[in-house]
Amino acid sequence: MRQRAGAFDRSQVGPTLRPFCPVAAYHSLPEIRLETLWAEGKRLILLDVDNTLVEWRGEDFTQEVLGWLEEAKQLGFGLCILSNTRNPARLARIADRLGIRAIQDRFKPSRRMYMLALKEFSVEPEQAVMVGDQILTDVLGANRSKIEAIWVHRISRREFVGTRLNRIVERGVLTLLYRALPVMAGLPDPAAPEEEQTIWTQLSRFAVVGVSSFAIDFGIFMALFKYAPWHGALLSQEFGAWLKHGFPVLFAYQSDAQKACIPVFKTFSASIAILNSFYWNRRWTFGIKSSEERGRQFRRFVLLSVTGLGWNVLFTTIFASIIPGHPNRSAAFASVVATVLVAFWNFGGQRLWAFRKS
Ligand SMILES: [Mg+2]
Repeated sequence: MRQRAGAFDRSQVGPTLRPFCPVAAYHSLPEIRLETLWAEGKRLILLDVDNTLVEWRGEDFTQEVLGWLEEAKQLGFGLCILSNTRNPARLARIADRLGIRAIQDRFKPSRRMYMLALKEFSVEPEQAVMVGDQILTDVLGANRSKIEAIWVHRISRREFVGTRLNRIVERGVLTLLYRALPVMAGLPDPAAPEEEQTIWTQLSRFAVVGVSSFAIDFGIFMALFKYAPWHGALLSQEFGAWLKHGFPVLFAYQSDAQKACIPVFKTFSASIAILNSFYWNRRWTFGIKSSEERGRQFRRFVLLSVTGLGWNVLFTTIFASIIPGHPNRSAAFASVVATVLVAFWNFGGQRLWAFRKS
């Protein structure tokens, strides 16, 4: 997943997700504007170590990080490390080297270390800010302590095995957070009312989706019918002969062996096209963005489409038998006519029934 930077609007995040939501995300620590934090009334910066200040297990600080810490001290910020590290000797070396206080106690997301830091620096939770690379420890712990959290992208992919497991959950949380944050993703605001399209907009979009589904349906159908080879012969001829021989009750009416395949091939190609249509018509043609009622809509859509598919198979088979000429030509023509007829059935059904807004 691509990491995005920007300010999170926490009021747009639901109560379940809010404890995991930072106030902002940055690609790295030195990008954080210290003057802005100071102007916002922040006086204490709480810092994670691994993959925030320095690489996991590392002690080589970049000039940018050292410069940023120096600037923070000069501005008058209190700085305090809160680390989940299992190596207290290394933490002591780091704190000593940077000239920063370090606290080690119950692991984040426990509130313990945050509370100890607030007490020690005599600041209120709203005067502090936590900077860390992990949603499930740094950000969650801060939010639980009523402290704003800034999430920074990890410095390196090298990580403690437990952290790697946390990252799996983190990815899921981030997907949801990003979805709920149009400011960052540049997506339409989900809180805004869904736009009401006119029937003409819907019809034109339905037509575009229809063309794409038709291309899928027709392409697959003709590829199977006309081009697919089978042991040196055409698949349709071999398969048609097998159908006529194996299921005489069903296929004996068809004098041409190749044409006996039509109902089977058509069922397959049209089913793929149906899935394409559901996705795009729901989201784009009829503008349904929320997942509400998706199950019911899908059941109705499938029922409509299966009925439509029935019409499609029936029409194609009938027209292919009626239309004279070479089997290739009559099958192609029959497929086009049937698709157009079924499109009217589908549009009406979707608009008035499956995707009708209550
Ligand atoms: Mg970390």
